[in-house]
Amino acid sequence: MTLTYKRVLLKLSGESLMGPRGFGIDSSRLQHYAAEIQSLVGLGVEVAVVIGGGNIYRGLQAEESGIERVQGDYMGMLATIINGIALQGALEKAGAFVRLISAIEMKEVAEPYIRRRAIRHLEKGRVVIFSGGTGSPYFTTDTTAALRANEIGADILLKGTRVDGIYSADPERDPAATKYDKLSFRNVISEDLNVMDMTAFTLCRENGVPIIVFDINESGNLIKIVQGEELGTLVS
Ligand code: UDP
Repeated sequence: MTLTYKRVLLKLSGESLMGPRGFGIDSSRLQHYAAEIQSLVGLGVEVAVVIGGGNIYRGLQAEESGIERVQGDYMGMLATIINGIALQGALEKAGAFVRLISAIEMKEVAEPYIRRRAIRHLEKGRVVIFSGGTGSPYFTTDTTAALRANEIGADILLKGTRVDGIYSADPERDPAATKYDKLSFRNVISEDLNVMDMTAFTLCRENGVPIIVFDINESGNLIKIVQGEELGTLVS
């Protein structure tokens, strides 16, 4: 079997972990993602995951409650580590070998981020979870995903969402919205489409890392993508 993508970076938002609960971590969602990721490992795909934290805390919320933005951002980054530990546990239960890496040093829980070491883990078939964001405030985990995808030489950045691709308008609000199968980086900008924040998007664009936005909740999508099936929206 031929693999279209051999080394992938999967971005999972914190929100995707909360499921229907509206907050925190939903265990059935967690198990679903773990099983989907493990199925890729079984095919010989090298999988790195960047996990978000929006199910627990976002820096932008901080200012409303009188907390300084930078402090709020650190709270958000710590939230991603909580999610990372949860995902690590679920993946290990699913039979994967996993290394949790944190951009904020926390050696009792996670390895520090050392690029060459992370790549070595991937080569050995371990799932690598990048938590702690970039380690710096004012960024998002989308930007982290773009940064790490570049650093580890990922063939593709897979952005798992609850919709099945990029639409001309928000499909949850506008019934007339149409889905794109393929877009160029230039199209995304000229059509003012919302794929990722600009910092993340620019990093991918300047370095030619393609992005696929797809429905992560549909079982089997990840496997289909790495085998070359055209699913979701490809930005290249
Ligand atoms: N964050 C940050 N720097 C980073 C990544 C994340 O400060 O490099 C903070 C930021 O406050 C953000 C929060 O962590 O709101 C959670 O990340 P994000 O909102 O990207 O999570 P997601 O939307 O993927 O759940």
